Parts: sequence; structure tokens; C-alpha cells
Amino acid sequence: MEYERLPSIPELHRPYTAAADRYEHFGYRRVGESGLRLPPLSLGLWWNFGDNRPFDTQREILRHAFDHGINHFDLANNYGPPAGSAEENFGRMMLKDFKPYRNELVISSKAGYDMWPGPYGTFGSRKYLLASCEASLKKMNLDYVDIFYSHRFDPKTPLHETIGALDALVRQGKATYVGISSYSAERTAEAAAIAKDLGTPLVIHQPSYNILNPWVEHGLLQTLEKERMGTIAFTPLAQGLLTDKYLETTDVVRQGGRRSLEAQLTDENLAKIRNLNEVARKRGQSLAQMALAWLLREGAATSVLIGASSTKQLDENLGALENLDFSEAELAQIAKIAQGDAGIDWWRTSAIS
Ligand code: NAP
Repeated sequence: MEYERLPSIPELHRPYTAAADRYEHFGYRRVGESGLRLPPLSLGLWWNFGDNRPFDTQREILRHAFDHGINHFDLANNYGPPAGSAEENFGRMMLKDFKPYRNELVISSKAGYDMWPGPYGTFGSRKYLLASCEASLKKMNLDYVDIFYSHRFDPKTPLHETIGALDALVRQGKATYVGISSYSAERTAEAAAIAKDLGTPLVIHQPSYNILNPWVEHGLLQTLEKERMGTIAFTPLAQGLLTDKYLETTDVVRQGGRRSLEAQLTDENLAKIRNLNEVARKRGQSLAQMALAWLLREGAATSVLIGASSTKQLDENLGALENLDFSEAELAQIAKIAQGDAGIDWWRTSAIS
């Protein structure tokens, strides 16, 4: 039997009651023309919620987020490490803290990347998607997810089968809405046509999108507008590059950052983030705040999926919402500084397939 230690953070000793003013911080944004509305900032559990991080810190971050109006938590079958542990940890938090608030929460999961060995543990077959959703529900102690995503386009499985699997999950009551992630504009249009035919609530696309990687602006956003779908941007801070973490140092390890970033800390990228930081400073924002605000400007993302390793980061990021307006001159300056390939379009291959 698992031995439950007493929480190390004093507040966690008390049963959780969500802050009474949690819906007074910002407005919720409509996803396309659906009934789904999301907070401007949503919280992703890709990093910092696996078994390699203290459970109490995870719990503190989630409580803090919900108390401040962030009611959308994004997961996937393979988040961890190890893969699956983020859903398991989230499932424990559901039981300990969030069960009374289930109807207020928008919880998403996904399948499409490698999860278990063999042909049915990756990509977009009906067999994988149906089985994986069932497994995710069990881990998270949920009866249904609010959004279930095809995590990436599968070039070999007919798209009709993948979207048909999402449709089946909705009809089985296991998903309320469905989405696609990292699909190109062309594949998105095809997926939307199939969904329309089947009557599937395919309402949202989750692409990578940030100042240094605005690929979605060259076709995908226009397609989503046409299909009346919403956009939730992932990796908005380029995994920490668009923050003050690397303004003075490239020591990823000392900064507690992601080793995968090392290759991106080039002189060219560092010059870009220092210049962007100057623009942010003149706006009275930190670089992270400006990067998030930029994604929430008119015509860009519906919601932005942030990651956070502390409540301090969360608070700073929430501060972005105080200034979402950009002048034409600021936008032009940001585009000029950011131009060129920063080498951070890590999901490009899935998007163009
Ligand atoms: P991100 O916002 O680009 O990076 C988050 C990281 O930036 C944090 O973990 C933290 O790094 C750092 N950070 C955040 N706020 C900061 C601040 N104010 N000051 C300094 N550093 C700060 O997002 P991401 O984690 O790459 O992705 C966010 C979510 O998007 C994921 O959790 C997941 O839900 C989703 N996602 C989806 C896909 C997909 O294929 N659909 C792919 C990737 C991500 P440290 O942890 O080092 O402190």
C-alpha cells in the first residue's frame, strides 16, 4: 500500500476550498463558435507534473491556478516523465482537491505519440485512440474529458478513421468536445470537413505558436477562422527562451531549464530575446508577459497554454493580462526582431505531413 506523507507545504494540510473570487480576474474567451469558453491562460502539465517533481509543488501550482481563474488543465497520455505519470498525479489531485469542482473544469487529454510498444501505441488508429482515452480517464479518475485531441496527424491511417474515433468518443460520452494538434492548414480543412459530415464537435486546434515561431500565421489561423474553430497556442514561451531566464546566462542546467533548449541558445537567438526584452520593458512588461500578451492580441490565439514550475512563474504570467494592447509600431518592431528561423519549430514535421 502507498504510504502518503504529510504535505510539506503547510496550506496543503487544510482541505481545499477554491477562492470565492476565482471568476473575477478576467473574461473567458469563446472557442470558435462553440459553447466552450476558455480562460486566456490555460495550464499545461507536460513538464513539471511527472514523478520527477514533488507532488506537493504540483498540487500547490494547480490550486493556485484554479484560485486565479485558470480552469483549463491540459494533459496527454504521454506527459510525465515517466509517460503517464502526469495523468496519474493529476488523478490524485482530482480526488484530493478538485472533485467538488469537476463541472467547472475543462480537462483535456490526447493520444497520437508513442505511448506503449507495438503498432497500436502511437499515431492515429481508431484502436489506439479509443483505448488510450479509456486508460487516461482511469488514470485521471474522470468519467469524461472535456476535450480529447488527436495529438498529431497520422500520414498512414485514413483521416476519416482518426476523426471517426474522436466522433465515437463523443458519442460514448467520454469526450465533450474534440480537437486536433499540430495539423497543417490543409489537413485541418480536411478534418473539419469530415467532422462536419459526422456532426462531430471538432472545435479547437492546438498548435505550437510563439513570437519566435509564428508558422500558424501563414495559413492555419486563416483556415481556423474559416472553419469557425478556436486556437490554443502551446509552447508560448519557447520552453523558457522567451523569459528572463536566459538574458544573462546560457547555463540551462543552473537555470533549472530544459536541456533540449541548449541548441537554441545561439548568439542570434540571444540577440533576439535581448532586443525583445527591450520592447517589453518599454511596455512595462517582462519578456514572458509580452510574449503571452502578443499571442492573445486581436486575431491570434483564443487561449494560451502555459507551463510553470512555480506559483511565482504563474503569477508573473497572469500579470500579462494587464496589458494585451499593442500599437502598430510595437507589432512591427517585434516582427522585425523575430524574423528568421530561430530553430524552435520542434513539431514542424507533424504539421506539414
Ligand atoms: P512554455 O510556456 O513555452 O514553457 C514553459 C516553461 O517556461 C516553464 O516550465 C518554465 O521553465 C518556463 N517559464 C514559464 N513561465 C516563466 C516565467 N514567468 N519566468 C521564467 N520562466 C518561465 O510552454 P511548454 O511547457 O513548452 O508547453 C506548455 C503546454 O503546452 C504543455 O504543458 C502542454 O500542455 C502543451 N504542449 C502541447 C504539445 C502538443 O504537441 N500538443 C507540445 C508541447 C506542449 P522551467 O520549468 O524550466 O522553470
